[in-house]
Amino acid sequence: MLNEPLALDLGIDIDWLRSPAGIAMLVGNEIPPGAAPVAQAYAGHQFGGYSPRLGDGRALLLGEVLDVHGCRRDLHLKGSGRTPFARGGDGKAAVGPMIREYVIGEALHGLGIPTTRALAVVATGEIIRREQPLPGAVLTRVAASHLRVGTCQYAAALDDRAGLERLTDYTLARHYPDAARDGVPALALLRAVAKAQASLIAQWMLVGFVHGVMNTDNMTLSGESIDFGPCAFMDAFDPATVFSSIDHQGRYAYGNQPAIGQWNLARLAEALLPLIDEQQERAIELATATLHDYVDIYNAHWQAGMLAKLGIAMPSTDATIVDDFIEIITAQRTDFTASFRSLADSIRGTAPSTTIDDTPAFAAWSRRWRAALSPTDLASIADAMDRRSPAYVARNHLVEAALEAATAGDLSSTERLVDVLRDPFTSRPGLETFAQPAPREFTDRYQTFCGT
Ligand code: AMP
Ligand code: MG
Repeated sequence: MLNEPLALDLGIDIDWLRSPAGIAMLVGNEIPPGAAPVAQAYAGHQFGGYSPRLGDGRALLLGEVLDVHGCRRDLHLKGSGRTPFARGGDGKAAVGPMIREYVIGEALHGLGIPTTRALAVVATGEIIRREQPLPGAVLTRVAASHLRVGTCQYAAALDDRAGLERLTDYTLARHYPDAARDGVPALALLRAVAKAQASLIAQWMLVGFVHGVMNTDNMTLSGESIDFGPCAFMDAFDPATVFSSIDHQGRYAYGNQPAIGQWNLARLAEALLPLIDEQQERAIELATATLHDYVDIYNAHWQAGMLAKLGIAMPSTDATIVDDFIEIITAQRTDFTASFRSLADSIRGTAPSTTIDDTPAFAAWSRRWRAALSPTDLASIADAMDRRSPAYVARNHLVEAALEAATAGDLSSTERLVDVLRDPFTSRPGLETFAQPAPREFTDRYQTFCGT
């Protein structure tokens, strides 16, 4: 699968990418002239436990390209073979999980959420051994960079102050050139990453996205979403939603994501502490204040985002309208995506009722909601609501069906799904099935697996 819009954005010739030379590069058999691929080292807290040396076990950073907008982007292969960080792994990847990365990256991008994206997924023709034999593939990932919280943890653990300083300066220059000018670089970096992650995680929450494995090595310094293994979009609203087969404690459940973001940032702060201030107490004080700011920034994004989804102008005079709505959809386990679209339809008058059951609690809330809306132009409020709440998300049953077909060699469902997800806010006739929740039996049993 080749991501033609992304190739255009990168200024890479599509015909060349489809040629034998292009494919040789996309599977890692040919190195582009002048490139010196590297497997990056990083550490990371996985499910809370620290691993001092993870690194790219099956991935290679091919190099960087300047896209047509002049932005520097990493080209990175995943599934291209063993590296010195492979430990017991075979260095390979299967078609299904790599297609998942492709679909989710395009889904988030279509929603306007910062994300790494797949340029291509190329089947290798090799059968790889997992629980069952599976066709192998290599993913070419495009990212603002592959610098992670775990990259800083790795540098800090080496006790190489100069190296950590270089990493800090480099990251600031690459991702936050404006922040680079204010004061102590390490503190500027911590603040910038906290701000970017607060915004990112709020955007996930506002569309019901569950990342599934927010280990510190899967959290970027750029603020892009990365590493789509056991991720999924939630349908029935429930903060405890977790899809990953190995997340028994619900550490990475939907409702825990903002707090886990802060936990991960605390690990970043620890790594940067010696550079924040010579006096440890002072460094801790400054870092702690930043971690508190993260909560405020996150809450502001969440509130503003929810009010926009509900069509209510800021500032709202009804202080608990968002929280009370969440309480109702939690109690009813309403389909998160469909609920906002149906609220918009209800004020347009095109749908007599909403997907939310008309309980006394909802009826009372609904009266408050209507009172909070500016009554002058309900049609344009409904349109504005639809621009903040997608009609189409990568629904789990559709993703699974596409992955299954792709594994069997048929990419048509994946192509169709990606096509729909590239324009998720515009309802189109004929796409009704893409807007519908999965059958309850499917959702109740649905589990995702790490893409190893
Ligand atoms: P992930 O779950 O993709 O974030 O991967 C966690 C770590 O395991 C990273 O260091 C990966 O490079 C490594 N890893 C995952 N699968 C494999 C594999 N099949 N072979 C080698 N390393 C792997
Ligand atoms: Mg990872």
